[in-house]
Amino acid sequence: MQNSILTICYIIASVTFILGLKMLSHPATARRGNLIAAAGMLLAVLGTIFLYQDETGKALRNYGWIFGGILIGAVVGILAAKKVKMTAMPEMVSLFNGMGGACAMLISIVEFNHLMHALSADSFHIPAGELLIIVLGLIIGTISFTGSIIAWGKLNGRVKDFSFKGQHIFNILLLIIIVGLSAWLVYSSGEPAGFPFPVIFYSILLLSVVYGVFFVLPIGGADMPVVISLLNSFTGVAAACGGFLYDNKAMLTGGILVGAAGTLLTILMCKAMNRSLLNVLIGSFGGTAQRDGAAKTQGAYKEISINDAAVVMNYANKVFIVPGYGLAVAQAQHACHELEKILMDKGVDVKYAIHPVAGRMPGHMNVLLAEADVPYEQLLEMEQANEEFSTTDVVLILGANDVVNPAAKTDPSSPIYGMPILDVQLAKTVIVNKRSMKPGYAGIENELFFQPKTSMLFGDAKKVLQELIAEIKVL
Ligand code: NDP
Repeated sequence: MQNSILTICYIIASVTFILGLKMLSHPATARRGNLIAAAGMLLAVLGTIFLYQDETGKALRNYGWIFGGILIGAVVGILAAKKVKMTAMPEMVSLFNGMGGACAMLISIVEFNHLMHALSADSFHIPAGELLIIVLGLIIGTISFTGSIIAWGKLNGRVKDFSFKGQHIFNILLLIIIVGLSAWLVYSSGEPAGFPFPVIFYSILLLSVVYGVFFVLPIGGADMPVVISLLNSFTGVAAACGGFLYDNKAMLTGGILVGAAGTLLTILMCKAMNRSLLNVLIGSFGGTAQRDGAAKTQGAYKEISINDAAVVMNYANKVFIVPGYGLAVAQAQHACHELEKILMDKGVDVKYAIHPVAGRMPGHMNVLLAEADVPYEQLLEMEQANEEFSTTDVVLILGANDVVNPAAKTDPSSPIYGMPILDVQLAKTVIVNKRSMKPGYAGIENELFFQPKTSMLFGDAKKVLQELIAEIKVL
């Protein structure tokens, strides 16, 4: 009876995961979607703790350990989530994803030890299917764990780019050895007597740790969000292995959903940058070397004063705001919304052009502007915005760089060549706000800044916006 109620809890939880995921696809419903899925997860966890019974009718024990772990995890999670800055969100996602991978790894280690324990009892035969799932969870979970930790370190600058000649071949060989050892282990499950199961198992664990590290180390910094999304899908698959192992429907559905969503997101991000996944994994895009060697000045640029910029926007019919990573750094979303409202009050048509990979994570700009209550109808996706730039008087770029770099269309030697960009140069006037002439994340020069219709408005985005607002108010 209790197990039937538990199954119903799992089904409800699975439905909330699917609903939550669907609602996450729109900023208006995302917050509620997150809460609904979290409530489903809580139901599944509490249901497992209080309703689960094994075949002999025994309930779970060890409540002290279980609730102690939940308490520590909850406190650390809540504090970390409250403290994290919006710009450090990808790091946090990476760290949390790594913890998911670590859980899958630990589950595999615990369950392997259970099997070994049973093996020492008479007449026990290792079930090959169970061993296969344990080993899969071990490999995928461990790679996701160590890879995510390296990605976290790279994003916050603690881990530097590192590669050596022939590293990709080394990685492939490592993977072949891991797969080979795993196949041998599972194949030998029929002949348990005398076979060194623990030695092989822990060798696979060690090699997976090394593989996770060397898999992510050579990948360029700018590609970390794509890698995190890929590792996220790995964690989902590893969790699904746990679901198979324990015949737990909620874990299985949750794992499959995370795996599928992570894979789709990885594909979408690669598409938005017009790059293949293979190119992301071996392309070293946005690595330190590339960034250090960049930023040769390309002729003269012209500056515009706050006063002139205010006048140009005040008397325009149509203004497009292009937000980028710098807007998030400056935390200028509220000031940006205020400027937009003042201009609208003065009869100017103001819209936002959102590039799919502006910022440092998918949807970064949408989340940032939603936080400042910018109406969603004013946010135009890249394709729509590109159709409107030719009828736009002023484009105000706030801390964006790579996503408006024409080299993506004109320079085949550029590392961002082929990436779709916002065609801001089609507008009559372009005003670029940033603090200096330094390059963006890809580490490359931007010829837009040197074009005759472009003017540079230097300064921190928040300060510049506040000054613009003050000027426009008195015009
Ligand atoms: P960029 O990183 O190209 O440029 C950001 C600009 O903001 C910099 O040039 C910087 O110039 C300026 N800036 C920084 N701080 C401030 C501040 N306080 N006030 C004003 N300006 C500031 O950002 P984009 O958003 O244009 O492009 C995103 C990049 O990240 C792309 O290369 C994309 O491929 C990459 N990427 C994004 C992913 C995503 O999911 N969003 C995933 C993977 C990669 P200065 O220092 O002179 O101020």
